Amino acid sequence: MANLTRYFTKWLLIEYNNAAIREKRNQSLREDFVEGLNDEHIFPVEFHMFHSKNEIRVMISFFEQGKGLLDMTLERFDMLPTAIWDEKEQELRLETESEIRARFPYKNREWTDTVVKKPYRKQDKFRKDILKAYENRCAVCGIQETKILRAAHIVDVKKGGSDEVQNGICLCTNHEIAFDNGLLKIRPDGMIEVVNQELTGIYDSIIYPKNKDLYPSEKYLQMKYDNNFE
Ligand SMILES: [Zn+2]
Repeated sequence: MANLTRYFTKWLLIEYNNAAIREKRNQSLREDFVEGLNDEHIFPVEFHMFHSKNEIRVMISFFEQGKGLLDMTLERFDMLPTAIWDEKEQELRLETESEIRARFPYKNREWTDTVVKKPYRKQDKFRKDILKAYENRCAVCGIQETKILRAAHIVDVKKGGSDEVQNGICLCTNHEIAFDNGLLKIRPDGMIEVVNQELTGIYDSIIYPKNKDLYPSEKYLQMKYDNNFE
């Protein structure tokens, strides 16, 4: 059986770290530390986690020099070479620099990812405000289970939507996905339209917040309604 591990070489680490610094990601390594690493060594990724939509955080082992965290896009993570431990031959098979480079989407120039950097605190606040406004209830089916409730943006932030409560709605994960994909539409007057009847909640219209000021904005609902099937 082969044992697979993602790893960094020093030159890869310099590139990935520079990208993290350039893209202002939350975790990068000290440049002088990276520069001081041994050119011949490889540095395995001990574990990785998805911590935002398109970003992965990895923990890299520098052996006796400790461990470090580095953030990168999913695309960049997928470009990392894989070390294969060949049980039969009892040897570690690594990729060559040209094999690694062949996967990169550029030749001899900086590969710049577009960073959609979301301020985490702002996101937490948005969720808190939405859940509070909707009294921890999915606006479509009314389920009250905070673990599966999402503060959904009506108009995506990337498409110009704001982080105000009026651009949000509290939905359970099911209804959030349905809403995102146009399987469930909410008219500006709050009426629900579904592609599949089984997606209907118990009401014809959404459950509004108690406070009228926190109602989802008709403008945003209209924008979403019109763009649903993009
Ligand atoms: Zn629901």
